Amino acid sequence: MSHIPLHDDLAAQLATLDHDGLRRHRRTLASPCGPLAIVDGREFISFCSNDYLGLAADPALVEAACDGARRWGVGSGASHLVSGHLAPHDALERRLAAFAGFPRALLMTTGYMANIGMVTALAGRGDAIFADRLNHASLIDAVQLAKAQGAESHRYPHGDLAALERLLAANPARPGQRRLILTDAVFSMDGDLAPLPGLLELAERFDAWLLVDDAHGFGVLGPQGRGSLAHFGLDIGLSGQARAERLVYMGTLGKAAGASGAFVAASETVIEWLISRARTYIFTTGASPIMACALLASLDLIEQGDARRAHLQRLIARLRDGLSATQWRLMPSPTAIQPIIIGDNHAALRVAAALYDKGIWAPAIRPPTVPAGTARLRVSLSATHRVEQIDRLVDALKECA
Ligand SMILES: *Cc1c(COP(=O)(O)O)cnc(C)c1O
Repeated sequence: MSHIPLHDDLAAQLATLDHDGLRRHRRTLASPCGPLAIVDGREFISFCSNDYLGLAADPALVEAACDGARRWGVGSGASHLVSGHLAPHDALERRLAAFAGFPRALLMTTGYMANIGMVTALAGRGDAIFADRLNHASLIDAVQLAKAQGAESHRYPHGDLAALERLLAANPARPGQRRLILTDAVFSMDGDLAPLPGLLELAERFDAWLLVDDAHGFGVLGPQGRGSLAHFGLDIGLSGQARAERLVYMGTLGKAAGASGAFVAASETVIEWLISRARTYIFTTGASPIMACALLASLDLIEQGDARRAHLQRLIARLRDGLSATQWRLMPSPTAIQPIIIGDNHAALRVAAALYDKGIWAPAIRPPTVPAGTARLRVSLSATHRVEQIDRLVDALKECA
């Protein structure tokens, strides 16, 4: 083959993406994150964001961010390990640890970085990873990096405890081997919950750690929004300190918490290890102190957010009831993520475009984000949606049938 210059090569591949309905485009919003979005001068009801509690533009967070900027400035100026760890970061870590029910927490700049950092710090040569097939891309990438460090990896069918048990039994622990089970708590494109009690039981039985990515459960599930572990009664407050020796918990702060960032909560020893060894923590600039200040305000609202969570549950029920007698196929999701399976990439794009014409914005999600042949509309609901807006979505979908 003759040499193809980089640009021609990429242009040809972009044309293939167009042809396959896989080219990605962005829309620019002229409005803050909320139930209504202004795009190209038109107003849309948006079912796109992960802002499940409606905190992203909440006045209390905005106030806390402004106050925080005046007191602490905008940037942290260095990595946390050098001089970028300011008092608001420290206060936030203490709040997050107490809230999630773990001895310690470590603030990270994003959930992607948190997953990469914790998995690669915990699994290297000779270690073994067992991962759910539908885990988020950041966990998949983390496993690839751990494999490059010499870890072995196994994937089990989505949520299948029996299959995982067989895998663990077929790969018994070797002396000195670290074994990690990795799972999303709420699966980001399906909205269903991982069987966390069963996973923890297997972790205990087969001498493994359970790493839980609670990007979509933190703030939404469990008493006071304490997350998926609390939802299942697995937080250590109820089950005793020993659980923390088996569990590493990752929550993100850009979804229900309405800001950005993430944290890992675990035992004292695990957190100390991550501070010394997680490369995505060590070699990056510390989070903005503004974010830490906004997040302290966000935690107050999450804790007091029962009314928001109850309204969100009403909206979920309203949508599911509204679509139950239609051709639209919902997944068995009890969460704010309510995907409507379409299948074909182009068909998913056509439905999304038809809704868009009616002033409703719900994203078409295609491979590689979801398995081939399962393109879908990913409807996500927020406590700031009104019931009438859900009804508008249901009516528009009926018209599109
Ligand atoms: C969004 C998400 C992440 C990444 O978190 P960011 O803070 O957005 O980088 C990780 N895991 C899951 C399951 C997610 O949905």
